[in-house]
Amino acid sequence: MSFEKLGLSKPLLKAIQEQGYTKPTPIQEQSIPVILQRKDVLAGAQTGTGKTAGFTLPMLELLSHAKPIKHAKGHPVRALILTPTRELAAQVGESVKVYGKHLPFKSTVIFGGVKINPQITALRRGVDIVIATPGRLLDHMSQKTINLSHVDFLILDEADRMLDMGFINDIKKVLAVLPSQRQNLLFSATYSEEIKRLSDRLLNSPTLIEVARRNTASETVKQAVYPVDKARKRELITHLINEGKWQQVLVFTRTKHGANRLAGQLEKDGISSAAIHGNKSQNARTKALADFKKGEVRVLVATDIAARGIDIDQLPHVVNYELPNVSEDYVHRIGRTGRAGNQGEAISLVCIDEDEYLKNIEKLIKKDIPKVWLKGFKPDPSIKAEPINQGGNRGARNKPRGGGSRNGGRQGNSRNSSRGNSGGRR
Ligand code: AMP
Repeated sequence: MSFEKLGLSKPLLKAIQEQGYTKPTPIQEQSIPVILQRKDVLAGAQTGTGKTAGFTLPMLELLSHAKPIKHAKGHPVRALILTPTRELAAQVGESVKVYGKHLPFKSTVIFGGVKINPQITALRRGVDIVIATPGRLLDHMSQKTINLSHVDFLILDEADRMLDMGFINDIKKVLAVLPSQRQNLLFSATYSEEIKRLSDRLLNSPTLIEVARRNTASETVKQAVYPVDKARKRELITHLINEGKWQQVLVFTRTKHGANRLAGQLEKDGISSAAIHGNKSQNARTKALADFKKGEVRVLVATDIAARGIDIDQLPHVVNYELPNVSEDYVHRIGRTGRAGNQGEAISLVCIDEDEYLKNIEKLIKKDIPKVWLKGFKPDPSIKAEPINQGGNRGARNKPRGGGSRNGGRQGNSRNSSRGNSGGRR
């Protein structure tokens, strides 16, 4: 299958070629023709599958054939892409620019945590495509600095994450101001009852597309668990980085404080490191990510929320310095490596306190992760498990998923706590 056969025209084919893509990924192969037929789509695709191009390319193609809107001045907003986090919004915005390079469209990215005035200026000048996180978009709506009355396309990217982060009411408010005639695309890595409810409400006879099996860890990623005592994790990670001569590694911690501390300790060990998490300013996060991408920083230590949507080509190593307490986060974390067909390796440093988390993760991904007992780092059998201090402010997300209290919990503190870290912060 080639991109030509999917029905994309020259300006897009040229941009694709410039990106060096030779053939569409499975999600692109399935989604592009369906979207070009103006159908609504419900797509189950994890990050790393090429999903962004899977919706961006056909959206740009359709926009390039769209009739101008009568009486509308300049560039009215024709397409709205909602994402859960700032990072993802920025990345999707970047993809829109890259793929739309040879087309005349203007796009802008809107998220919280940065000044609103430059966004207002951009909107006032006119944009065809807006990529936004829900919170800041609502600010623009209430200040009447955005007009969404000509939106033909609505795309929800990582919809499961948006629901997780408590954005459902914000999404409903956005839906309320959109024209009823429009094409809707919903992308989600996982399915749940809530996603089903949202898709029932949003989509008209959608075409279902699923490329990654539900909740399975990306199969291109080689996974391993290194059992180790908690107090020796730092020593082990330094050893792994140095011995393996790793140049680029993304490391996950459970808490913001843990991320800062580890980055500082690795620096002391002579390994250049930066931390990104929700307490850092947007500029600091962008800089840390840019330094990492440029190779100036070897280790990027991140919390789950800050890392969402991070897209780094050919990231070979992901380390779970601490396992996530929400098992689905493990799947998202390891999805940062082994992207678009590249080999990747995900190593988890697991101490006895985390055994329960590991069991839950293995249950979710339906396989046992191979254990590597590294000489010199074998756990001391006299150390007993202790309860894990959640340490963060992630509120309801720290509770195991499922069960009757789930929704209630989410509407309570999950919204407040995660919005503090998320793209929704105003
Ligand atoms: P995504 O799942 O959208 O986050 O994309 C994951 C990565 O795959 C990005 O770095 C894209 O640049 C890359 N990618 C997307 N489509 C293709 C393709 N057809 N061939 C090779 N790489 C691709």
